[in-house]
Parts: sequence; structure tokens; C-alpha cells
Amino acid sequence: MRFDVPAWVLEIVRALKAAGGKAFVVGGPVRDLLLGRVVSDWDIATDLVPDCVVALFPKVVPTGLKHGTVTIVGDAGKAEVTTFRREGPYADGRHPDAVEFVRDIEIDLARRDFTVNAIAYDPESDELRDPYDGQSDITARLIRAVGAARDRFREDGLRPMRAVRFAATLGFEIEAATLAAIPEAIETTRKVAVERIRDELLKMLGASRMARWIEVMRKSGLLAVALPELLAARGIAGKPHHAGDLYDQRVAICEAIPGPARLRLVALVLDSPGAAFIRLAMSGADRRFAETLVQHHDSLHLGDLTDGAIRRIIASVSRANVEALLAMRRADFTTRADGPVLVSAFDTLATRVRRLAAEAWPDRPSGLALRGDDLIASLGLYSGPEVGVILRALHAAVLDDPALNTRDALLAIVRREFFPKNSEK
Ligand code: ATP
Ligand code: MG
Repeated sequence: MRFDVPAWVLEIVRALKAAGGKAFVVGGPVRDLLLGRVVSDWDIATDLVPDCVVALFPKVVPTGLKHGTVTIVGDAGKAEVTTFRREGPYADGRHPDAVEFVRDIEIDLARRDFTVNAIAYDPESDELRDPYDGQSDITARLIRAVGAARDRFREDGLRPMRAVRFAATLGFEIEAATLAAIPEAIETTRKVAVERIRDELLKMLGASRMARWIEVMRKSGLLAVALPELLAARGIAGKPHHAGDLYDQRVAICEAIPGPARLRLVALVLDSPGAAFIRLAMSGADRRFAETLVQHHDSLHLGDLTDGAIRRIIASVSRANVEALLAMRRADFTTRADGPVLVSAFDTLATRVRRLAAEAWPDRPSGLALRGDDLIASLGLYSGPEVGVILRALHAAVLDDPALNTRDALLAIVRREFFPKNSEK
């Protein structure tokens, strides 16, 4: 065998064939095997109908039954098995009006988006089926539509986004006619569900060299659909010390952030993180992450910051987001004209931030060594808003000096600061 296909995947292929079907590894994994990349998802195509596939394996999840896809759960991993299909006409630019199961792998390969994704491999016979010469495009490192790009993009407006995503993540170029077909497909792309666009956008943003692909998206009109919030930063004066306008600066900072994609996205939409994350139907947790980082990203500055001030910043963004905050700030400094000097100063600060974040101190008043009910009982107070005021003041004191976080020390502070008359007695 020319490729290293895991035994459990081979077993699935064998089982499909033993039931009288045809079976191939297809699409992404074949492309990645030819590129020598690690395969993450195994996709298998067969002419057996889904009901038949379901009956063959003990653990099957009907992930996309009506499109002919089921997931086979094995001990060593999962594989998606999809029945060969032909897609009917696309009236809406998003979904084929009907899918029809077929017996011929070549018909199935014809519906696939790019030549590099339209190769099938039979691991038993070691045979490759490559009717669109995807292997040549893999060698030339080109993303080329299967068939006429204009028609294929008009069928499904997500494909232009996928072209950019694959080019960015694989380090390929987009073949000229395929690239030229993007601008006229934009109206179709507008009809595509935002979640599908978002998923491609995030995968694209995860590519180490994404900046030039943002430019490709801008010039072809895709950026206006996928991320208008970033487009709005064009022509707006940027911050001093950075080259270019606000748009240029954000794209440069984005690429300088090591990852993850969600954080890179935050760096692109600093004016309206909440609105952009809502429009892209990101989760509530992602939205809060974005808003928190944007709110506090300027607070970590190179001026004098006391340990207390740093703990306050850590508490505000929460410890879980400290690395994200540091990565975003560092990227800001590395892309400045006067960056190199500042980056080493920032790295010193970052070491201090990490050390303080690793220490045990309460992030919130509820983590104090003195609890509200204890405070009320010990000092004979009435419960009321004052209790919250006192606890927040104690928390502020503890952020400046965590050694104060003992019950006795905190009670002493309350007596001294809030009830001086009583404690004199
Ligand atoms: P990845 O490694 O990112 O998963 P992939 O090639 O497996 O890459 P998927 O999005 O998982 O990409 O799609 C699996 C396969 O299905 C593709 O290789 C392609 O052949 C086909 N495909 C997926 N989406 C489309 C589409 N919108 N139009 C045409 N074919 C598509
Ligand atoms: Mg895949």
C-alpha cells in the first residue's frame, strides 16, 4: 500500500465490500495523504445505501442520513461513510433541490468542489481514481474548481469561501479561472447560512499566513459578506507607531497572534466585538470572551503597574483568558514600528503577569476567607447592601496584598475601616 491507512479504516472498507458494495477513501483524507499531512477525519464513499451501511456496523450515528452520511464509531476512531450521490440543481444557491444515490464513484467525484478534493482511493487495491487530475494540482499546489468555476460557485455560494480556506490552510494558490469566478458569485454567497460561512472563516483564520487571504477576500468581495466589520476599518486612521490604516493594523496584529482562530477573530473586530460575534452566530461564551478581551486589552500597558493592578486585570479578564490577553497584547507590540524594544519589555511584564496568575488569591469577593454571613454574625450587622460594599472593599485590599486574606485580618480591616468608633472602645 502506498499510503498508511489505519487498520480500522481498512476494516470498514472491507466490510462494505464484503456486503457487495464498492468503497473508497475519498476527499480530504486522500488529499492529505498525497500531501504527506496528518489525516484527522476519515471519509469513506460507498454505493451501498445508508440503511444498508447502518445494518453492517454495531455503532452507527445517523449524522446526515438524508444526504446519505452516517458516522461509524470504531474503537480507534470515527469515520463518515457517505453513499455515492449526484446532486440535483441548486435553485437557492445553498442546497441541491434533491440528492440522488448513484452506483458510480465518478459521478460522486463530479459533485465535489475542488480537484484536490475529488480523488478517491481504494486502500485494498491501492488504486487512485482521479478523473480531474487533482494530483497535478496537488503537485502545483493549486485550488481549482471541478468543472466550470462560475457554474460551481453559482450552485453553492459557500465554495468561494472554501477556496480561500483551503488555499490558506494548505499553503496553495487559487488557480486563475477559479479566482476570477469569485466576484460574480458574491450574491450567491450572501444567501448562504452564516454558520457555514463562519466555520470556513474560522478555519481560514487559523492558517499561519492568513493576512494575504484577507486581502484576496477583500478584493474579490468576499470580505464584505463574511466580515463587514473589518472592512469598515478601511481608510480609518490607525494608531500611531503602526503602519497603514486601522484595517492594515488589525490584519497585521491578527496574523501575529499565534492562535486560536477565535482570538484572531477578536483582533479583527475590535470596534464591535459583540455585534460581530452575534452576527456570526458565535456562542454566548465566545461573545463574552470577545467583549472581555476588547474591554481590557489596553489595560496591560508598559507603564508602572503594581502587583495589585495586575491582579485586578487578571480578575477582570479571568485567569482562563490571561494567555489570550497576553497573546493579543504581544501581537500589538510586535507589529509596531518601534516594536522590538517594546516586545522585550512586554515579555518581562508577561512573566510577571503569569507568575501572579499562578498564585492563589480570590478572583472575586465570594472567594474571600470571610464570608458575608460570617461577617454579619461576627459584627452583629444587619444584612443589606452594606455587606456587599464591605466585601468588595476587602477584596480590593486582598488584590493589593493577598496575605490579608485570612478571617482575622479581614475582620480587623472591617473594624478599623468601617467601625472605627466601636473598635476604640
Ligand atoms: P478538512 O480536512 O478541512 O475536513 P475536507 O476536504 O475533508 O477538509 P470537508 O468540509 O470535511 O472538507 O468536506 C469533505 C469533502 O466533501 C470535501 O473534500 C469535498 O470533496 C466535499 N465537499 C464538502 N463541501 C462541499 C461543497 N460545499 N461543495 C462541493 N463539495 C464539497
Ligand atoms: Mg473533512
